[in-house]
Amino acid sequence: SSLRELLLSRIRDVPDYPKPGVMFKDITPLLADPAAFGALTDALASLCVRLEADKVVGLEARGFILAAPAAAKAQIGFVPVRKAGKLPGSTLRQGYELEYGTAEIEVHSDAFAPGDRVLVIDDVLATGGTAEASLDLVRRAGAEVAGVAVLMELGFLAGRTRLAPALAGAPLEAL
Ligand code: 5GP
Repeated sequence: SSLRELLLSRIRDVPDYPKPGVMFKDITPLLADPAAFGALTDALASLCVRLEADKVVGLEARGFILAAPAAAKAQIGFVPVRKAGKLPGSTLRQGYELEYGTAEIEVHSDAFAPGDRVLVIDDVLATGGTAEASLDLVRRAGAEVAGVAVLMELGFLAGRTRLAPALAGAPLEAL
C-alpha cells in the first residue's frame, strides 16, 4: 500500500550499528517527516479503535515515541513499560533473555483497570523477546492483550513465531 511505501522510504539502514554485522533500522528520518509520522500515528490510532483497546503500552524508548501520539489520537490512556529501575511507584518486573545476557522491564502495578484491553506498541520486532516479556507483564498486571503493533518486523529473526504463544490469538500488526 502507499502507507507502507511512505514508511519504508523514511527508514534508514545503518550498517554495523550497534555492532559489526548488524544492519540497524533507523527511524529518525520518519519521525522528522510530519506526513510520515502523522500517517503512522493515525494508522496506530485506527488500530486502537479497531481492536477496542482501552490502553496503549509503549516499550522504552522508541516505542514511547510512537505509542504516546497514537494513544492521544485514539483518546485512550498511555502506559510506559520501562527498563528496570526507572518507574517511581510500585512495579511488576519481568526478565527476559537477550542475545548476550538478560534484561528486565517494569510496569506500574496499578497501571491498568482489571480487564483493560491493551495494545502494545514498539518500533521494531526483532527476536520478539521484548514484546513477549511485555505481554507477560500486561497479563500479570490484570489486563488483557488486545494485540501488538510495530512499525517494522525483521522477518528473518522469526519474532512472530516466538511471540505466537504469548499472543494467544491476539493480532500482531506490522505496518
Ligand atoms: P527484540 O526484543 O524483539 O529482539 O528487540 C526489539 C527491541 O530492540 C525493540 O525495542 C527495538 O526498539 C530494538 N531494536 C532491535 N533492532 C532494531 C533496529 O534495527 N532498529 C530499531 N529502531 N530498533 C531495534
